[in-house]
Amino acid sequence: MIKSMYKEFLLSELNRFYDTNGFIPRRKDMLVKNNYPSVYTYRYYFESFGDAIRYAGLIGKPNIVKFWKYVDKKGISDCWQWNGTKDKDGYGRFFSGKHTKSHRLSYSLQYGDISEGMCVLHKCDNPSCVNPNHLFLGTHKDNSIDMVNKGRNPDIRGENNPYAKLTNEQIKEIRKLGESTDLSQQKIADKYGVCQRHISRILCNESRSSDL
Ligand SMILES: [Zn+2]
Repeated sequence: MIKSMYKEFLLSELNRFYDTNGFIPRRKDMLVKNNYPSVYTYRYYFESFGDAIRYAGLIGKPNIVKFWKYVDKKGISDCWQWNGTKDKDGYGRFFSGKHTKSHRLSYSLQYGDISEGMCVLHKCDNPSCVNPNHLFLGTHKDNSIDMVNKGRNPDIRGENNPYAKLTNEQIKEIRKLGESTDLSQQKIADKYGVCQRHISRILCNESRSSDL
């Protein structure tokens, strides 16, 4: 079989495996155990395997089956408690190629992609809840108002943290910029010499105290 055909074949097998099991096998023996093609030599299989996964763009695809195993699913209007790892604020964390917040992943599984810079907020006052019916999209400003309304007290590590790249003054400026201008997060990030993700976290109040 020529290599491109083999690649295509592997790709379809991987997709099939993913649909059935909800995850991408990382080791060759996992495929073999599940009666996936063993007629090929391990060596050839293994050589093409990494490529095929990369080619398929499957790395980082959320592991949906594993995700729901951490969730205590209840009625449609109840809170669905996250039983996996949580961050210091009680938000669930989930790793699937990259770290994500569980409630954000739950939201995007139900409603589709979250546009850049938007926050996923809780209707209930329960950070570890991942019931999509309790989640809604909001801007950073909505998020700030929401946090104040819920009387949430963000931690006060801020610039006292020796790893902090920005002073409290700068954080204040960034939040003001985020709320009042059309400057993109990337532009703000460039201005302060940090990455866009960092700006997003600051604006979402996931990073640094929000009562600055
Ligand atoms: Zn809830």
